[in-house]
Amino acid sequence: MATASLISIAPPEALLAGSLEIGSGEERLRDSHGRAITDLRVSVTDRCNYKCVYCRTGEEGVNFTELPIEQYLRMIRIFVSLGIEKVRITGGEPLLRAGLLDMVAELARMEPAFPEDGRHTLDIALTTNGHLLESLAAPLKAAGLNRATVSMDAVDPSTFARITRVPRSFERVLAGVRAARDAGLGPVKVNCVLLRDFNDDQIERFAEFSRAEDVIVRFIEWMPLEEPSTAPGSRTWSPETVVPMDEIVARLNSFRPLVALRANAASETARRFTFDDGIGEIGIVAPVSRPFCGHCSRIRLTSDGKIRTCLFSQTDHDLQQKMLQGQSDAEIAAYIRQVVYRKEARHHIGEPGFLKPSRNMVHIGG
Ligand code: SAM
Repeated sequence: MATASLISIAPPEALLAGSLEIGSGEERLRDSHGRAITDLRVSVTDRCNYKCVYCRTGEEGVNFTELPIEQYLRMIRIFVSLGIEKVRITGGEPLLRAGLLDMVAELARMEPAFPEDGRHTLDIALTTNGHLLESLAAPLKAAGLNRATVSMDAVDPSTFARITRVPRSFERVLAGVRAARDAGLGPVKVNCVLLRDFNDDQIERFAEFSRAEDVIVRFIEWMPLEEPSTAPGSRTWSPETVVPMDEIVARLNSFRPLVALRANAASETARRFTFDDGIGEIGIVAPVSRPFCGHCSRIRLTSDGKIRTCLFSQTDHDLQQKMLQGQSDAEIAAYIRQVVYRKEARHHIGEPGFLKPSRNMVHIGG
């Protein structure tokens, strides 16, 4: 496994003492490894209308609580005042959440505190399974959403339904992808998690899909974040189940020669490619075989108001409790700085002694 290159920065005394005021310092949110934290992923529910075999148990299961939208917005405003520039709304399935359009409209009014690239609005993105997107894409765009990423793990309808465990789901998602593209929520990304001997026969068909539908298809290596389950069809992670980046690249190259594209940003998770004729775009996100923790700029807020500093954290940090205790924005900002400062250097997937995180993907927010 590649070792993340990280530098350490000394803890500012005021920061650890929790006495730093919002706006009192010019410093943007950073962890102790020197990484600027600019991306916030907010889960607005951990309910989901799909039961994907690599993610959920297949049963309804217990859910964590949801906060009123206004509470997420207050938290996000404080994060933005500290340097968050991109907010990705996720879940669970975020389109199940009432009040989402109003939330997006409020986010669209927020301004980044450190507009280095001259951008005066947040970058607002959504990750969805697309089931309800067909009718919501245009209203979301009108409310201020910039981009949509749709999860779609097969282009063959029967394989798709076997993954989601919802009949006729493929047609709904395809309509959602097209509606997002037509509404201008682009470039639309289509995320596919590959599982060996389950949907890895879809690689070439996804390449065709990217070329035909004018969307970016991103293959994602499966991580050990599934809910434990013995239900029929459920999958359990092991290193052998992962389809690694090198194999995906080789398969795509046999389909049609790949041409590497330059990264959009250092913190970009995907290696980008097009084909020799410039039609289609493929991204490969390889957290298992090529970890990118050294450039991680992300932090997560769960649906029940907890900060998670890494997908693989063993603990979370209760931000809602601080609000319920009546803490001021400045106090909450100081707390966020302390928590983020201690962000983990990297994950340890595949290493001896690896511990699964204290929550599964669906309850964190992907
Ligand atoms: N329901 C929304 C959706 O389907 O996009 C948002 C939540 S879902 C948990 C977010 C993303 O995480 C999806 O693209 C899903 O495929 C991905 N995901 C879930 N479990 C994963 C795992 N163990 N490893 C890698 N990606 C995973």
